[in-house]
Amino acid sequence: MAIVWPCGLSVEKYAAAGREIWVPRSRCPDCRQEMVFWSGYWRYVREKDERRLFIRRACCQPCDRTHALLPSFLLHRRLDPVRVIGWVLALGIGGLGMGKVAARLGVPHSTARDWRRRHRARAPALVAGLAALRVELGDEVISLPGDPEQAALAALGALWAPRQAVVELWALASLVSGGAWLSTNTTPLWAALGDRRFMAPKPSKPTQEVV
Ligand SMILES: [Zn+2]
Repeated sequence: MAIVWPCGLSVEKYAAAGREIWVPRSRCPDCRQEMVFWSGYWRYVREKDERRLFIRRACCQPCDRTHALLPSFLLHRRLDPVRVIGWVLALGIGGLGMGKVAARLGVPHSTARDWRRRHRARAPALVAGLAALRVELGDEVISLPGDPEQAALAALGALWAPRQAVVELWALASLVSGGAWLSTNTTPLWAALGDRRFMAPKPSKPTQEVV
């Protein structure tokens, strides 16, 4: 399972840090104990060209489980930054044909269509999860559009509005869903939310630049 942490770095800066990337310590989503860093793995992100990023892992020793520590500009198992995925979804849900959306944002048409299909399937769960989160955070109740996909975007926007100084819109989507905004698995949507990491993301410490 992935744990998403609020990352203020650009993809470029993150990539430049290589294995030395600074990542905040996390608690185990199951038992809440502080975890220890446990190696990591390389993955790619498509940002103009493909870049290789090091994703650190943490291990909960009592639970004997490891978790990927994903920066908030990514979703789990998606090559493109969540910001790009978000634009594609927003334009498509706004009524622009997915072919045009894909061309405008330089994303393969089949990829854009796949994101949209998954979002459509996922939207009711996203709406329900975001509504539960609003209650937990004491945000005002809002009325939402009847279409589930539009409702998911509206609910995300409403959650983000009072927090826009601390986190970008689509980074918030990754943070609150544990990187699983488009996931098809059955993990409860807000499982990774325990310590409300997304509430007050602090700017990341300057990473040691690789010279
Ligand atoms: Zn644990």
